[in-house]
Amino acid sequence: MTTLHQIAVIPGDGIGREVIEPAMEVLEQAARQWDFTLAWTTYPWSCAYYTEHGHMMPGDGLDRLAESDAIFLGAVGDPSVADDVSLWGLLIPIRRAFDQYVNLRPLRLLRGIDSPLESLGGAVDLLVVRENSEGEYSEAGGRLFAGTSMETAIQESVFTRRGIERIMRYAFDRAEERTGRLVSATKSNGIIHTMPLWDQICGEIGSERPRITVDSYHIDALAAYFVQRPETLDVVVASNLFGDILSDLGAAIVGGIGLAPSANVNPDRTYPSMFEPVHGSAPDIANLGVANPIGQIWTGALMLEHLGHPEAGAAVVAALEDVLADSDIRTQDLGGSASTAEFTRAVLDALRSKR
Ligand code: ATP
Ligand code: MG
Repeated sequence: MTTLHQIAVIPGDGIGREVIEPAMEVLEQAARQWDFTLAWTTYPWSCAYYTEHGHMMPGDGLDRLAESDAIFLGAVGDPSVADDVSLWGLLIPIRRAFDQYVNLRPLRLLRGIDSPLESLGGAVDLLVVRENSEGEYSEAGGRLFAGTSMETAIQESVFTRRGIERIMRYAFDRAEERTGRLVSATKSNGIIHTMPLWDQICGEIGSERPRITVDSYHIDALAAYFVQRPETLDVVVASNLFGDILSDLGAAIVGGIGLAPSANVNPDRTYPSMFEPVHGSAPDIANLGVANPIGQIWTGALMLEHLGHPEAGAAVVAALEDVLADSDIRTQDLGGSASTAEFTRAVLDALRSKR
């Protein structure tokens, strides 16, 4: 009997709808080759759905998603709908309800992709572990003296011991599986309340985990290291804001937003995790059939790994890499002329030989 995984699919808007099916096709083939089954249930929740119904998802939307083993999301967003409507109406409720407190961003320079960093000394392969539930992105704060010359905005950061401990433990675990090196992003010389707690808890957990080498770098210096010597970094743990910035910077270093995968993980596995590429709905290239499906396919590989099929996930990434390294088939954003469908066809061919 093969393992069956229930996957909730939310294609979303724009190029999300164009890259999700190619990615599903690749994952289906991996499932056949590695002998497991993916049962897809597709939900049309999106900005288009909002325009028709006045909400991003129905009232029982979260209950329906809760029944799945994982959520596979394309991209949500449309110029006609304010960003906070789509975020607060769909993505944030999912992240919160399912306690997806880790945002995982693998950054790897694939063979065949040119980095804008000509001076790169080695292969970039790092993992940004971003805190996804608290920190700088909080609702605490407000405006004082509105409309006067003294107008003042206050935005509070909220860091809890529980929140820091759980992201740190996750990052230490991932470091242990990889090279045993962890870098923590801090700024305790300037942010004098929250960041010292972050550093303190990092130190506490580090003393329980003597096999892991931990370096704490201030975010400004670390941003420079991402550019100057990314090949020396392995697992990087960062707060919500710092992790957001570092992972986009990292995505640029390894070839751009169209390639970058991400996962919103509930490591406790009480609830489904959500897998979504870093890019958005890209309305400027929507409906042309030219979107790069790599980010979505690689995101799918992360989902396979999470579902307990690491070999299948690795083979999917290796298939992407084979196409990039051994052919000049690539989409326009990478300087090629292949359509989304043509590129996907080549990935399916490359994957076929993997097992
Ligand atoms: P959203 O509002 O949903 O975030 P966006 O307009 O910000 O959408 P992004 O998807 O975040 O668009 O990306 C910015 C630009 O990068 C796009 O407008 C597009 O030109 C390019 N881009 C992003 N993803 C891809 C992709 N998968 N393939 C090709 N080009 C892409
Ligand atoms: Mg965007």
